[in-house]
Order: sequence, then structure tokens, then C-alpha cells
Amino acid sequence: MSKRQTILLVDDETRHLKVLVKAFLNDYRVLFARSGDEALQLVQQEAPDLIILDVMMPGMDGYQLFGLLQQDQALRQVPVIFLTGRDGEADERRGLEMGAVDYWTKPVSIDIARIRARNHLELKRHRDLLAKLAITDSLCDIANRRGFEDYLAREWHRAARTGRPVSLLMIDIDYFKAFNDHYGHPAGDQCLRQVAALIDKTLSRPADLAARYGGEEFVCVLPETPEAGARVLAQKLRQAVADSGMVHGHSPLGNRLTISLGAATLQPDEAGDPAELVELADQALYDAKNGGRDRVVVAGMVLTTLAKAESG
Ligand SMILES: [Mg+2]
Repeated sequence: MSKRQTILLVDDETRHLKVLVKAFLNDYRVLFARSGDEALQLVQQEAPDLIILDVMMPGMDGYQLFGLLQQDQALRQVPVIFLTGRDGEADERRGLEMGAVDYWTKPVSIDIARIRARNHLELKRHRDLLAKLAITDSLCDIANRRGFEDYLAREWHRAARTGRPVSLLMIDIDYFKAFNDHYGHPAGDQCLRQVAALIDKTLSRPADLAARYGGEEFVCVLPETPEAGARVLAQKLRQAVADSGMVHGHSPLGNRLTISLGAATLQPDEAGDPAELVELADQALYDAKNGGRDRVVVAGMVLTTLAKAESG
């Protein structure tokens, strides 16, 4: 059963609000606001799936509120229907040209409003699903490479603003080719799913993201995490796989499945590129593999150290 969708109604006149609340209350979560300012506060707390917005309001009018919503990366995805007492073609054209999905003239027919809202909400549901699929790994059901890159770029810029470090873990399943060769690809897929679930479960903070980087490689983005924290979490992940009881009878390390991890931490700045962090973690992972696998190597603040060494 899918989650109830949310409609936000914005109108300065209570009698109009009442009609619409009644129309939608049985089928959706309904939020309402009597002014543009109130609506702006509400949408910060939770993004609705559809906004039905009165054009004529004292203070901030519907067009102004719409303009502000369009400036927000997340809120601009929410479909907006304009609601107006006017029936001028020019107003309707203006609303639609701004990007509203529909334009309703008061008084609104309850039945028609229900059907039209339902159609827009169905489209929104499909769009949300497609957007989620585009960033999800279909085998492991965690973020995919694209989801990882989007997330890392976002967190990189956030950290550049807040002055906090970002850490990255790169993880590789040891001797995975031998695993696939001996147990077959269905078992290999099952192994990837188990390791992904284990990584995802071990990351405890909501802002941490686990993703499949490709093949048997995984990554973890750890916002606001200094080097020490990244090291502890990497060790915890290595231990979790070691303790999982997953068998790899063709690993030179013994009868068990193991992973190697590279960790890196940087203090992002706007001029920098998140790819620097990926390269550092990748190099650390390479060192972990070369050093005998089933271990953690921390690259740490290598770039900063280098820069200091060069300037000094
Ligand atoms: Mg009004």
C-alpha cells in the first residue's frame, strides 16, 4: 500500500479553504495555509505532492509565492494549480506560462477538482518513482553510482559552506572473481546483496549514504565526519563482514568472505572537486588490497599535508 499523498491548500478566504479541505480530506493528507508566508513555513517542514494556490491574497500573492517555490531545488518539483476568482484569459496564460500544471476558476466544482487533482497526483507519483529508480541499484537496492555522485556533490558543497569535513569509504569484496567463478553468478549476486545490506545496516546516521559504485565495489559518503570517525566506521564494517559467517571457500585468506576498505577525509572548499576525495579513497583502497586485503587503509588529510609541505 503506497503512502498517502499530501495536498497543500493556500487561500486567504476560509470558506474557499473549507470546500477544498472537504473535497480532499478522505483521500489525501491535507495541509492548509491562509497566506503565502504561512505556506512557505509549511513547505519547509514537509514537501507536499500538490499545491493548490489562490492567486489573489493580501501580502504575498499566489504568483509571488510560486516564484519563490521555483527557486528551491526540491520544491520546484511540486506541481502547482492556480486558483482564482478572475476568469481572464491573460491571467490563465500567465499562470500556465509560469509553469503551473493547471488553472482553476472559482467557484470550483468539487467533483471536477477531485478528478483533476487525482490525475496530477498520479503523474507526480510516477515521476517520483522514476526519479528514485534512476538513482537506485536494481540488484542491491541501495543508491547506484549516479545516486552516489549526486549525493557527494551536494554534501561537498554543503560542507564547503559549513566548514565541516566529509569522509568517504571505498570498499571492495576480496577475491570476488574467484567467488563468481566457483559459485556462479546467481550466488555472486546474492553475495553482493548481502554485503550491501550489511553495509547499509552498519551505517547508523541518517545522513550517511551507502552506494554501489560498480561491480563488487561499494562507497559510503559520511558527511560531517572527521578522519577518526571514518576510521572507526571502516573497521566496524570490516568486522561486520568478518563476523557475518559468509563463506568464501576459494579465498586465499581462509574459508570466509572479507572486504578491503580505503578511507579518506577532506575539508571541501568551493573551488575543489569531489573527485579529489574519490581519488584519495580509491588510492587508499588500492593500498589496502596491495597490503594483503581484509584491512582498512586511511588516506586522511593527505592533500592538506601535501599543500603544507609544498608551501613550507
Ligand atoms: Mg483570495
